[in-house]
Amino acid sequence: MSEGLSFGTLVVGADRDIEDGAPLAPDLVLASVYHLTGDPRPGVAGYGRMDNAGWTDLERLLGRLDGGEAVVFASGMAACVAALQPFLAPGDTLLLPSDGYYGVRRVAEDILQPWGVHVRLVPTPELADGDVAGVRLLWLETPSNPGLDCVDIAALAERAHAVGAKVVVDNTTPTALGQAPLALGADIVVAADTKALAGHSDALLGHVTCRSADDAAQVRQWRTLTGGIPGALTTYLVHRGLLTLDVRLERMCASAAAIARYLHGHPRVEGVRYPGLEEDPAHALAARQMRQYGFLVGMMFEEARAARAFLDRARLVKEATSFGGVHTTAEQRSRWGGDDVPPRFVRLSVGIEPVQDLLSDIERALR
Ligand SMILES: *Cc1c(COP(=O)(O)O)cnc(C)c1O
Repeated sequence: MSEGLSFGTLVVGADRDIEDGAPLAPDLVLASVYHLTGDPRPGVAGYGRMDNAGWTDLERLLGRLDGGEAVVFASGMAACVAALQPFLAPGDTLLLPSDGYYGVRRVAEDILQPWGVHVRLVPTPELADGDVAGVRLLWLETPSNPGLDCVDIAALAERAHAVGAKVVVDNTTPTALGQAPLALGADIVVAADTKALAGHSDALLGHVTCRSADDAAQVRQWRTLTGGIPGALTTYLVHRGLLTLDVRLERMCASAAAIARYLHGHPRVEGVRYPGLEEDPAHALAARQMRQYGFLVGMMFEEARAARAFLDRARLVKEATSFGGVHTTAEQRSRWGGDDVPPRFVRLSVGIEPVQDLLSDIERALR
């Protein structure tokens, strides 16, 4: 965090010098072609696949929050691929969690593996003692989606760096305000800003932030060549969403903690996962490396029927995929077939509705 200011201040850019007459709102430039005389040169926009003032505006902010150089992409997946493929070659070994976001696993197994990359999958809780010998790139996701297990970023980064591996952390679930992987020793952080960072369920966007300028240049080149660029309007919407991230998270995380506490020991719920619960297996680690425990709660019912009944009876909790939006949503992750979770598991994403209304709705749906 620069100059001792809190993230809530940085996130609205309150500390930047601003010229008279300049807008307070983010830049929105709808242009595919720019006037460019003579030779192309850095800092002068020429073509829309290479430059956009709205990206630059958002990247500056994301870079400050993450503590590195940020590059925005068309989606979280476009960002994930840009943090994988440029840093791997056939013959390299990629180690990634078997319980993380399923899209990343699919890319590893369906695209990188046939290309010649060795893919090793290890469950997040076992990564702490896992073997990193021979690994070129270590991918972490903490808390993992959807299981909400955590892994010690600093400890693993140290071990991975000792064998010359690069460490990438998918920071989607906590966001840059909830956890700072680069400060903990990671080389690259990626996030699906589609989720909480944008927060209004109306835009897809992702970003990669690199500690080193060389890595950032490779990621930027990857974007320019492969074309996974976010649209200008989407970039604007995400930037606008980011301006309120701090206040949204404050409400969402406090409500999630209250709901997790309520569900813990509830006779109709067999198990609850929330890193903020003292009883959670990930709590001690989360307390050390996270600034907030997040807004996701894992609910394990005794049987799939009970999970289904909960979703059917809830009125405020909307059945929907994805997470991190202003609306409270939930789903049986198993319905997509990609995650190793049973149908009796429900992932709850707590939104910004006042918590007493959510608690009443959940109480009624469980009755
Ligand atoms: C959603 C998600 C992604 C992919 O983001 P999209 O914007 O849907 O492409 C990547 N990683 C994690 C952890 C996610 O939850």
